[in-house]
Amino acid sequence: MIDTSIALIIFVACLILSGFFSGSEVALISINPAKVRTLVEQKKKGSVALEHLKADPDRLLITILIGNNLVNIAAASIATAVAISIWGEIGVGVATFFTTLVLLTLGEIIPKTYASRSSEHVALLVARPILYMSYVLYPLFRILDLGKKAFSRDQVIRPTVTEDEIKQWIDVGEEEGTIEEQEHEMLYRVFRFSDTITREVMTPRTDVVMIDVEDPLEDSINIFNETGYTRIPVYDDQIDNIIGILNVKDVFEAIYSKREGVTIPDLIYEAYFVPETKDIDDLLRELQKKKLHIAIVINEYGTFAGIITVEDILEELVGEIMDEFDEEEPEIQKISDMVYIINAGAWVERVNETLNIHLPLDDSYETIGGLIINQLGHIPRKGEVVEIPESGIRLMVMRMADKRIEDLKLIFPMERSNGENR
Ligand code: ATP
Repeated sequence: MIDTSIALIIFVACLILSGFFSGSEVALISINPAKVRTLVEQKKKGSVALEHLKADPDRLLITILIGNNLVNIAAASIATAVAISIWGEIGVGVATFFTTLVLLTLGEIIPKTYASRSSEHVALLVARPILYMSYVLYPLFRILDLGKKAFSRDQVIRPTVTEDEIKQWIDVGEEEGTIEEQEHEMLYRVFRFSDTITREVMTPRTDVVMIDVEDPLEDSINIFNETGYTRIPVYDDQIDNIIGILNVKDVFEAIYSKREGVTIPDLIYEAYFVPETKDIDDLLRELQKKKLHIAIVINEYGTFAGIITVEDILEELVGEIMDEFDEEEPEIQKISDMVYIINAGAWVERVNETLNIHLPLDDSYETIGGLIINQLGHIPRKGEVVEIPESGIRLMVMRMADKRIEDLKLIFPMERSNGENR
């Protein structure tokens, strides 16, 4: 028969080990890979072992589970054996009650609570012993792993961290004050940046200031002077036939050095063409590599759709960049809580996002001007109104430039109560 005092020592040892494994489980599972990487960079003791463990989460979990079950079962068996030797058959009940209570409090609840509050400290402390144990238990792990694989053949490898999770961390960071509002906005812009295509940020062809290659050089000086642009596309005969870009500096240099008989074709340089569906992050890299500031955007039919400059792309990251020639006219201007003036070229998605409303989206248009034409079924006249069903929002055409809508007024219905958007 087992000596009671030896049994008590083994029982207490099992209890301590049970607490050790439970605490290890919580600390090692909850610590995230980014934190582990930081600890390794800071050369914290135990961090390399921790990194090894986190590299194989299945092995880590199985090691801890084997250890924990081993000591829990051992503790329960010893308690039962001792209790039977003292109280006979009734000892089984006593041992069950006592072991459950002690294992639950000292072996589970207390160590797990402590480990969840100081996961970093506990993880570093237990990483080495758990890693060594995982080496010892490796053969057993392989057998269990084979069994597990047999039941989960089509296992999908999920990413450790998703874009949505990172965004949530950014939100939490802002709420807790570790990330400033501007940093929050910029980090969000970075995510949006990689999902944005050229068409969304280009200056559309209707707004592009261009010049015919046959025009006299003096005309270009007037254009540069009036618009303040540095580069203008040059076309030959038809607007769709862009043959190059004219830079004000080259014109200035030609005039300053009094070169005789210089014409526009002598000064233009080759235009760089890009499809309107190109991702702007790729385009930015290309423009940087080619040392270009401007690209001509071509639509799916190969015709001229607009231009895009490095500034258009950078604005997506840092917000509106105003230079000394830009006239400050935001796409959406608030007149009152109920009325907004909107540039017809603003994308419906952006208007919805900014005003927290739900104007209808459709494949046949992207801009709010396009939405009006789609709803009316004809080119509108100044003053025409479209009422959006359900929300009751009215869109009134304010300014037309020939057949193009320039600005419109967005008017919320009268019953719109304070702060309530639809
Ligand atoms: P820079 O700042 O190098 O002097 P810029 O002021 O002429 O050049 P950017 O700063 O590259 O032009 O772009 C500012 C805005 O003007 C962008 O939205 C761009 O699309 C637009 N833009 C640039 N050139 C033209 C042009 N010829 N016609 C119409 N819009 C243009």
